Amino acid sequence: MIVTASSLFVMFLLIGSSGTAAGDAAPIASEMTRWSAKAHADQMNASEVRVTFVGNAGFLITVNDKKILIDALFSGFPGDYILPREIQDKLAHGLPPFDNIDLVLATHSHGDHFDASLVRRFLSNNPDAVFASTPQATALLNDFPDRVIAFAPAKNKIATAEIHGVHVEAVYLSHGAPPEGKAEILNFAYLATIAGVTLFHSGDIDISQFSYEDFRALRLPEKKIDLAFMQHFYLGDAPAEMKLIQEGIAARHVFPMHYHYTVPPMNPESVLRNYPAAILFKAELENWVMPRALKKD
Ligand SMILES: [Zn+2]
Repeated sequence: MIVTASSLFVMFLLIGSSGTAAGDAAPIASEMTRWSAKAHADQMNASEVRVTFVGNAGFLITVNDKKILIDALFSGFPGDYILPREIQDKLAHGLPPFDNIDLVLATHSHGDHFDASLVRRFLSNNPDAVFASTPQATALLNDFPDRVIAFAPAKNKIATAEIHGVHVEAVYLSHGAPPEGKAEILNFAYLATIAGVTLFHSGDIDISQFSYEDFRALRLPEKKIDLAFMQHFYLGDAPAEMKLIQEGIAARHVFPMHYHYTVPPMNPESVLRNYPAAILFKAELENWVMPRALKKD
């Protein structure tokens, strides 16, 4: 069984990612678009949005009283970057700023994004939190059947769920072709919407595995993404990568991620040269607060 979640608070369904033609409904649709754009701006004005860097590709996102962690319950690799022990302990015990977490997402089951034993400690100590990820990650967490969700998106099918008031869409995006004889590591990017604020976290993607048109079919700009988390090495000046970021995602705020384990390493100057407004962190547990949207009458 792929989906194992309490139906009390989780609604799980699959939808296609393709859009629908407007046809005769066009005037009504554009009216609705105008209305929803205004509603979006009003909602944004009312929301407190905070991003806390945890480590590597891990972030805590707080919108009003909702908190989600993405790729933050990991430990890293001995001999390379390790998430500091005291941060792992704060996460495991739900100590501030990691108290009252609603949802934990993991993009894939690699040790720089996910650690099953840390997730297990976290779920034991935080009985209201839910964990959702790929079937490869959730297969390691059979002891929490009511609070662990495996998404099952297909190549052109987004999986969606409502979890503790957070609307989540899981998108299959290739981590890369597996080596000969090895199983593919599943990587799900996430779109999460909380109180009208939408974020996108790509996980580890290999953009050589899909075309711009494949990516554009996800209709990310139409989702009006406020915060986008992307691997730092795709924030360079290669035209295809710029098109992907600027036209394929078109987010208001861009966060380079995967601070560690890459060759060449993250170069803040080169990221800022191409994306002067990108948000970079210097150390774990630094915060960024989203500026309020400008009011337009
Ligand atoms: Zn990976």
